[in-house]
Amino acid sequence: AKNDGRRTFRFYEPAMDAAIKARRDLEDDLRRAAARDEFVIHYQPWTDIATNRIEGFEALVRWNHPERGLIRPADFIPLAEETGLIASIGEWVLHHACAEAALWPNDVSLAVNLSSVQFRNSKLVDTTREALERSGFPGHRLEVEITETVVLEDNKLIHETLSELRSMGVRIAVDDFGTGYSSLKYLRCFPFSKVKVDRSFVKELPHDLDCITIVRGIVEVANGLGMITTAEGVETAEQLYMLRSNGCGQAQGFLFGRPMPAAEVAELLAGDRIV
Ligand code: C2E
Ligand code: CA
Ligand code: CA
Ligand code: CA
Repeated sequence: AKNDGRRTFRFYEPAMDAAIKARRDLEDDLRRAAARDEFVIHYQPWTDIATNRIEGFEALVRWNHPERGLIRPADFIPLAEETGLIASIGEWVLHHACAEAALWPNDVSLAVNLSSVQFRNSKLVDTTREALERSGFPGHRLEVEITETVVLEDNKLIHETLSELRSMGVRIAVDDFGTGYSSLKYLRCFPFSKVKVDRSFVKELPHDLDCITIVRGIVEVANGLGMITTAEGVETAEQLYMLRSNGCGQAQGFLFGRPMPAAEVAELLAGDRIV
């Protein structure tokens, strides 16, 4: 190479190439993952705080990569969203989760996470209807979790989509509430059944006074509007106690169970449901 003063640029080049290549490889792998049956769903229980009983399970997708092993959603969902692959992955999750949950006892609910990208076309309602019909899983036991980024695009399509899901009995939960661009306005504008209090607030319980105030506030607003509240990321009995005394209805987190394969759900439900 010529010593023309651009050597520092050249110095970074191979590393950048490697990063771009790694990303492209991952994208290629992701594109083939569905056809190769590499996705699995793990299910994490949530409980009713008053009765301590399991009410339902949240479907959390994992990618069983042939070389890299189990990849967590944080490491491929963003890429799936950027490339649009989330549409087909999301469809797969809906179908697969409903099919697996159809085998559970009839008072157990299923929650499925939806990406805002899945709301950009009108297919979501059809996909959901198909997933329910094919699996026989009843709509009133299905809950979809959406983040505020979905309702941020406050438009007619999203309103219609959510209303159609509601008319099929499907409940709608606001995920990660309190992060991002939370606006209390959205809680009035959309037909939500549940607000999930983000783990970042729950994590600081029972000691952080600010977080106690925030959690109490979210619970009070949501309950006042007729919605259920679920606390995410509950790891200790102290956190649970604090949530209970502040009127939070449901809890989810490692205290009750980590996300587990479908076979373990069946086992857990076959045994004593009190955790
Ligand atoms: P999320 O919807 O907020 O899901 C909760 C995440 O917190 C899960 O991580 C779960 O394993 C973790 N978690 C649950 N309880 C605890 C706890 O007590 N302590 C701690 N430290 N963590 C806890 P996971 O499975 O890695 O999922 C990460 C995110 O990926 C999810 O966050 C969700 O936004 C997204 N995701 C997962 N599955 C899907 C999917 O099928 N579709 C879409 N669009 N997104 C998904
Ligand atoms: Ca969620
Ligand atoms: Ca969440
Ligand atoms: Ca969260």
